[in-house]
Amino acid sequence: MRLRNVRGSRETIAESEYCIKDYEGHKGKWKELFGNDNPIMIEIGMGKGTFIMEMARTNPDINYVGIEKYSSVLVRALEKRTNEPELRNLLFIRMDAEFIEDAFSKDEVAGIYLNFSDPWPKDRHSGRRLTSPKFLSRYDNILAKDGLITFKTDNVSLFDFSLESAKESGWTIVNETRDLHGSVYNEGNIMTEYEKKFSELGNKICRMVISRHF
Ligand code: SAM
Repeated sequence: MRLRNVRGSRETIAESEYCIKDYEGHKGKWKELFGNDNPIMIEIGMGKGTFIMEMARTNPDINYVGIEKYSSVLVRALEKRTNEPELRNLLFIRMDAEFIEDAFSKDEVAGIYLNFSDPWPKDRHSGRRLTSPKFLSRYDNILAKDGLITFKTDNVSLFDFSLESAKESGWTIVNETRDLHGSVYNEGNIMTEYEKKFSELGNKICRMVISRHF
């Protein structure tokens, strides 16, 4: 994602009730923050938040937390979020996913979405990919036993890497497709911003769903 510094984004985030600053203090207590016992699902690298906002609208009985590393991107999601105060089930964190275990405790997360994660094409940067074994082991520490990770991308090399990484790390491939929009798995699919952009260019969308127990 091309990043442009957005003036005032840090201040907007600091002031917003929808962006949780002291996420470490809420570790293990997200249900209290949402005020109910509904499951908590997260999207890591949510960008401008199109996908997670639609998920929150569609599934009011699920709580969502969108995670984004950059203020200049998160602020765009926050603008949209602020225009829909009636959504009670959506919060954001500005953080690098490297520290995800500081925000959530064991089994606290019911599901994880990774959408069009940055590919980091150079081998020496493979550890930064959000589907690398290092990141999968972090997710392992926060995801409920029957929790799923759903990963979408149009990048075939990243998809191949991610399938290998999952198998190597002991995860089970629940299902996979290299043409999501032409597959049975497309029913109920909510498109992300990048998904719209790349599928309009004619790129096929790959998706894998993985779990640890099956
Ligand atoms: N998920 C959105 C979509 O599908 O439209 C955005 C995809 S964009 C290519 C990837 C996003 O992930 C960017 O907004 C980037 O800043 C964020 N990101 C990359 N690495 C991250 C990390 N380590 N922790 C949190 N966010 C990250």
